[in-house]
Amino acid sequence: MAATELLYLADSYLRQFEARVVKLEEHSVVLDRTAFFPRGGGQMADRGQLLAEGRTFPVIAVEKRGDEVHHTVDGPLPSPGSRVKGQLDWEHRFQMMRTHSALHVLCGVIFQRYAAQVTGCQMYPDRARMDFTLADLTPERVREIERLTNDAIDEGYPIRVRFLPRREANLMPELIRTKINLVPPQVDPVRIVEIVGLDVQADGGTHVANTLEIGPIEIVKTENKGRENRRLEIRLLREGS
Ligand SMILES: [Zn+2]
Repeated sequence: MAATELLYLADSYLRQFEARVVKLEEHSVVLDRTAFFPRGGGQMADRGQLLAEGRTFPVIAVEKRGDEVHHTVDGPLPSPGSRVKGQLDWEHRFQMMRTHSALHVLCGVIFQRYAAQVTGCQMYPDRARMDFTLADLTPERVREIERLTNDAIDEGYPIRVRFLPRREANLMPELIRTKINLVPPQVDPVRIVEIVGLDVQADGGTHVANTLEIGPIEIVKTENKGRENRRLEIRLLREGS
């Protein structure tokens, strides 16, 4: 196994990097390091390209298998051992960062206002949906959640990423609430994404550095997903970059 160093964990804004090809499989390339986000935690995978030997190799899918990140390339693969330059489709990635951070703001607002727990989420470049347990989701409440979320975004909260030793993370009430026990026990340190003063979660995704980068959101849809579960769909109102 050739573990891939995950550059995006420390720097979500890294959109270009250099790496070495350590393994090839049928249609995929494993690098020693990557800024490409493999799909996971409701966030879509990055796309982009690898440049090597004067050629361009389009990356159409990215997936984590064990400790390796597999970049699926459309067409022939670069040579084993070669040096490549990776370039992300930044427009797509930045949209994912904005929608992902928007969901965390929503999560913080819904918990602070209603003590409701999030049970799942899925992001797309321009919209996202979140499931949570709040049986009494009236239209008035939906409008209130939308207003409180936009107020919080407008507040300009910094979003910080840090790494905490597992034994410390296990004791943080906010992390217990957001189910740190679902993070595999061998993960240590734990990556923490904190919207300082609003929301804290153990999270492996990429985020903007300040809520102002999200811009205003709109709740476009609500759905009942069982007796207690409700789904909200949000849309970003401002164009990215
Ligand atoms: Zn997240």
